[in-house]
Amino acid sequence: MREIRFHGRGGQGAVVASELLAQAAFLDGKEPQSFPFFGVERRGAPVTAYARIDDRPIGLRTSIVAPDVVVVLDPGLLGTTPVTDGLRPGGLLLVNSARPPERLAVPPGVYRATVDATAIAVEHGLGSRTMPIVNTTVLGALARASGVVSLEALQRAIDRYVPSRPRENRAAAADGFASVRLLDAVVPPERLAVPVAPGASPTIPEGPVATVPSRSIRTAAWRTLTPEIELARCTRCNFCWKYCPDDAIELDAQGFPRIVLDSCKGCGICAAVCPPRTIAMVGLEEAA
Ligand code: SF4
Ligand code: SF4
Repeated sequence: MREIRFHGRGGQGAVVASELLAQAAFLDGKEPQSFPFFGVERRGAPVTAYARIDDRPIGLRTSIVAPDVVVVLDPGLLGTTPVTDGLRPGGLLLVNSARPPERLAVPPGVYRATVDATAIAVEHGLGSRTMPIVNTTVLGALARASGVVSLEALQRAIDRYVPSRPRENRAAAADGFASVRLLDAVVPPERLAVPVAPGASPTIPEGPVATVPSRSIRTAAWRTLTPEIELARCTRCNFCWKYCPDDAIELDAQGFPRIVLDSCKGCGICAAVCPPRTIAMVGLEEAA
């Protein structure tokens, strides 16, 4: 599994970047997951978003504390946010910056890359000069520097899921892919004195981190609406299962979803992400 953490500011498209990356990975035949963490909800406030990509379905629902890749959309965050926290040896730090990657400070064994996504986004008319939307450019650079998705799948995901200026966003992604500068790790990970096992000693950040399996937390009492699935129209895409934040959906032997009511808090995310809209959120009396 590859775990990617995005750091940006509200309005730069960090959350859309993580979603687009997941969509592109899906088009590449992978099993993706993406989700945001918002602090203060206003333009310019720091925003973190996460993506996981694997060959198998991902059951993990926690935030990412030991990423393989960290992507920074705003270089101004480098001095104020501990963006490299938990970054694994052998991992990659990719920053939107006009500076060469040699200027980035990284932990031992971490690869560095920069791309001048701001200039590319402005050149393609994405966002404004004061708040350029750099996400598709950075994703193009990420595709080249990390190989987590192909540029072709990224371009297809942009076509499908970016409603505004898809042609310009595709071109920006291609420019990001072509112009990213990648530098070797400061100390190559294989030469580190003490081998670090994947996942060993992650730094646990302050804040709401799940430390027990989601399903063991009984959130049914929070529910005012209950999801009901019209299985006759279900395509078994499993989006509801992937996006449920409480692991409150399981799949039967045929791959159809089933709600685990003891764990469902009624947030309605499953209904919102269901492509054919086969999930209805109904009142408790209706559902009874
Ligand atoms: S409403 Fe849907 S997404 Fe939300 S907790 Fe229940 S099953 Fe999960
Ligand atoms: S998201 Fe909708 S169509 Fe897909 S598995 Fe869930 S209920 Fe079925």
